[in-house]
Amino acid sequence: MTYKSVKGTADILPSGLAGSSELYQAIEAISRNIFQRFNYREIRTPVIEERSLFVKAIGAETDIVTKEMFSFRDRGEREIVLRPEGTAPIVRAYLEANFHKQDAFQKFYYIGPMFRAERPQAGRMRQFHQIGAEAIGSMAPEIDAEIIVLMANLLDAMKIKGYKIRINNLGCKDDKAGLSKTLRGALAKEKSVLCDDCKKRLEINPLRVLDCKNESCRSVIRGAFKSVKFLCNKCDGHFKKVLGCLDSLGIKYELDPYIVRGLDYYTQTVFEVTHPELGSQDALGAGGRYDNLISDMGGPQLGAAGFALGVERILIVAAKQGATVYPDDKSVIYIAAMGQSAKEKAFELINSLRGIEWGKKASFDTDYEDKSLKAQMREADKLGAKFVLIIGDDEISKGEAVLRDMATKEQIAVKFSDIINALKGKLC
Ligand SMILES: [Zn+2]
Ligand SMILES: [Zn+2]
Repeated sequence: MTYKSVKGTADILPSGLAGSSELYQAIEAISRNIFQRFNYREIRTPVIEERSLFVKAIGAETDIVTKEMFSFRDRGEREIVLRPEGTAPIVRAYLEANFHKQDAFQKFYYIGPMFRAERPQAGRMRQFHQIGAEAIGSMAPEIDAEIIVLMANLLDAMKIKGYKIRINNLGCKDDKAGLSKTLRGALAKEKSVLCDDCKKRLEINPLRVLDCKNESCRSVIRGAFKSVKFLCNKCDGHFKKVLGCLDSLGIKYELDPYIVRGLDYYTQTVFEVTHPELGSQDALGAGGRYDNLISDMGGPQLGAAGFALGVERILIVAAKQGATVYPDDKSVIYIAAMGQSAKEKAFELINSLRGIEWGKKASFDTDYEDKSLKAQMREADKLGAKFVLIIGDDEISKGEAVLRDMATKEQIAVKFSDIINALKGKLC
């Protein structure tokens, strides 16, 4: 009997296939570099958390909590879930580590797998990967703007072109309550034609009807509810400053009164970044400000904002925009050896090459299977080797190897003791 990966999960395999581990590594390396420039530091939280953390943070009536979490009871009868998102665990870790009692203002990032028990679809597997940031401990509008600029910087560095940022402001708790009331009123007459989910939402959390994915709900809602002015002066001023910061940096965005995000913890600025190449599930990522979450979770009243990008969605767009977005600039050196003493020399040589200080992006390999010279050269080709060192009985007796430049086909004899010198300056 053989085994397959669990439904909705996939192996991320090496080699140039779309979604390959090299692409994940490239995206992660680009992200870490940008996060460093913005002075965001990494948090790695466990993939399992208590179920109640997400019920409290995201909201008991949200789709994630009601339909999409992988949950189980552990041997100690605890309700455990595989984390469906990154913000609640980061806030949990922030409070658990007592950051709020020392340096309350902290900027974090995370990179890792998230889990949702949905019907698997393109770009949304049951195990998927997110890159996200959270700036905790500030109410400043500059932070909302910085989070959006950081997200745009990441997408630009990943060479994603043509994405759209759409922004809305939900205001403070009171403003959200006011908007809910307005929505309930505006949609009271339309209630019968809304989907069952929206009927429930209208009772429990009317804002959520605005992001119903159902087409007929969307048109009914957009007919009955246009943008209204519901922000208090303070929130209105905050939003104007956020937009001013974005304008001053030349960040392009659209205002969209229908963005509310599917999680209850958002207040003030909320945004989505979408891409037309993704079709109907067009979100590359999303985020916003969540000024009540830290206090809701037992901490002090602290402002915070963050975003998350979906790695698989980014890779879909990257693949559609051309395969050369993340150039592979590593160099491979292969040693082809024939005969027992040549094999021994090759094994010794390959391991001393692996220890050299320069050529950080180079890889070194040799044959372990007693293949023919022809087969070894084919292997070198398959690996994309830049240089091949060829060693046979002849070379052993002369104390040298043949160094072949695979691009120019030029071959020169090099003494064993000179090999490292001969390669110096030729490797990335
Ligand atoms: Zn307000
Ligand atoms: Zn609906």
